[in-house]
Amino acid sequence: MPLRERTRDVLSVLRAAYEYDNLGNLSDPLDELVYIVLSGKTQGTTCQRVFARLKELYGSWDELAAASEDELRMILQLGGLQDKKTRWLLAALAEIITREGGASLRSVASMSDAEAESYLCGLPGVGVKTARCVMMYSLGRFVLPMDANVFRLLTRLGCLPPGTSYRQGHQLAQDVVEPTDRHDFHVYAVIHGRATCRPQQPDCGACPVGVLCPRLTLSRSGAGRRARRP
Ligand code: SF4
Repeated sequence: MPLRERTRDVLSVLRAAYEYDNLGNLSDPLDELVYIVLSGKTQGTTCQRVFARLKELYGSWDELAAASEDELRMILQLGGLQDKKTRWLLAALAEIITREGGASLRSVASMSDAEAESYLCGLPGVGVKTARCVMMYSLGRFVLPMDANVFRLLTRLGCLPPGTSYRQGHQLAQDVVEPTDRHDFHVYAVIHGRATCRPQQPDCGACPVGVLCPRLTLSRSGAGRRARRP
């Protein structure tokens, strides 16, 4: 079966199996960028609390950009990784203000997908996944942000070539999902990855897409016990 058909079938099963959740993402591109920076290794509800606190304390992202590292670090410590996130956030905001004359990413809306991705990836601390989250959630672009959940699911389903590394996977992952399916595939892969297709001890016996997954077929045939798979 062609890979895009397989990922479409997987998505339709996941849609039926789980309730949709927008994962807290935001419509303004700079809000979304800040939110994604804050979300690193942080649970969704905690990240939302930290984001709300920043909005409450600062009138604008320009105002936050003028904050001291110490001040920001204190606020971000609730979500963890505060040193890294403080440095990324202040560096990214400083670069945006230099490029745009103010803390806004609205100019990205008029760029092509390739220009937008390249522009965003040129900001300090911003990689392909973050850039595509901004593009997909805030600008409605048909791109696929590949986080660890998406990568793990596509790898286990056999939709990426064997041995594909996370770094190599971004474009390959995007290519195996139909453009109009990418938003929901990302969302449902995250939900499924948290609930069932976990990094360790995935609950394959209760998996709604097990029938489409070679890993489950292998483990039922006994071959999965001989070869360790991602
Ligand atoms: S069968 Fe297991 S490895 Fe395959 S998608 Fe389901 S939980 Fe993940």
